[in-house]
Amino acid sequence: MPASEACIPASLLASCVTLVFQIGSAVPESSLLSVHILTPSFRPPMEELLTRTQEREEHSQGQVQQEADQAMATRLQAAAWVQRGQLHHPAGLSVQKISRGIDQKGILANRVAVVTGSTNGIGFAIARRLAQDGAHVVVSSRKQQNVDRAVAALQEEGLSVMGTVCHVGKAEDRKRLVAMALQHCGGIDFLVCVAGVNPLVGSTLGTSEQVWDKILDVNLKSPVLLLSQLLPHMEKRGRGAVILVSSLAAYMPRVELGVYNVSKTALLGLTKTLSLELAPKNIQVNCLVPGIIKTDFSKLLYENEAVWKKFMEYYWVKRIGQPEDCAGLVSFLCSPDASYITGESIVVAGFSPRL
Ligand code: NAP
Repeated sequence: MPASEACIPASLLASCVTLVFQIGSAVPESSLLSVHILTPSFRPPMEELLTRTQEREEHSQGQVQQEADQAMATRLQAAAWVQRGQLHHPAGLSVQKISRGIDQKGILANRVAVVTGSTNGIGFAIARRLAQDGAHVVVSSRKQQNVDRAVAALQEEGLSVMGTVCHVGKAEDRKRLVAMALQHCGGIDFLVCVAGVNPLVGSTLGTSEQVWDKILDVNLKSPVLLLSQLLPHMEKRGRGAVILVSSLAAYMPRVELGVYNVSKTALLGLTKTLSLELAPKNIQVNCLVPGIIKTDFSKLLYENEAVWKKFMEYYWVKRIGQPEDCAGLVSFLCSPDASYITGESIVVAGFSPRL
């Protein structure tokens, strides 16, 4: 074994510690623990291993390597379990619960955020940023394996994150998301509604009633229905923030996006109406309006060279947006710095279509 491979960085071993505890959560709920912060009163063997590795002078190179190999094997096994979906909680709870006793740092310290459609793309970047800024974050989306993967990835970064399956168009999923956030996080401060669909590319008049219903259910109705369930709990916290996610298509409809354009324009109106209704409760409602952001969702647009070139020429956009370009704004809108901002729709597109 070359000397360079013999030296395992402490950060890698820290990841091993995290994953080992994630596995611990597959066992009965009574034994669930917060993973990413290891309290002095609970020093598991893997943490001792980490500490010992950091104090490497006390060990011979061979001993450290042996321990690191063992940790790596455990880590790979854990990753395989996550991959095979063996960490599923019967109710769809992914990995383990958040400890309420942990003191987070940052502008959103110890606040609780629920983010829908957050296992990929823009939602994932938002979930990560809110957690980096100190919030406990509940991620969710339709597929259990996506939830598991997202939670594992963020927890490996030391972030306070948990997750559950929630198809926002399904009442029972929304109910479970709310119940889980309350049970494991003790309250809710922020709701970020990212989940959105566009199952059909075609004209508005040619769209079937079934597709109309699906797009409006997921894109427009679900944020309202979820919020109505969360509201009593947000009110109890004294201040809250709701962020809806629209699209540039709301201002500049693309002919091929039909009903999707309409649903995203309606979200701008929803932002205004909800902001008025919730102002007396000290809950701000604002809207993120992304341009073309590089995710799976927008592949059809940016992978089509002709479309993208036209877009750049017309609007002088210098580059395609990244999911992270949207995340800082959402964190700001949740922060106390934004407590006098409500009813706003803010474009993140590399240019602005508004006056
Ligand atoms: P993405 O990369 O495809 O990610 C979509 C996420 O939402 C995934 O985590 C997906 O996970 C989840 N999801 C999909 N349908 C869902 C449902 N019914 N209920 C709950 N979760 C669901 O998409 P994105 O680009 O980040 O788009 C996110 C939002 O931004 C959408 O509302 C979209 O309209 C808006 N937007 C995107 C762009 C862009 O250029 N990317 C521009 C403007 C607006 P599962 O598959 O596991 O459900």
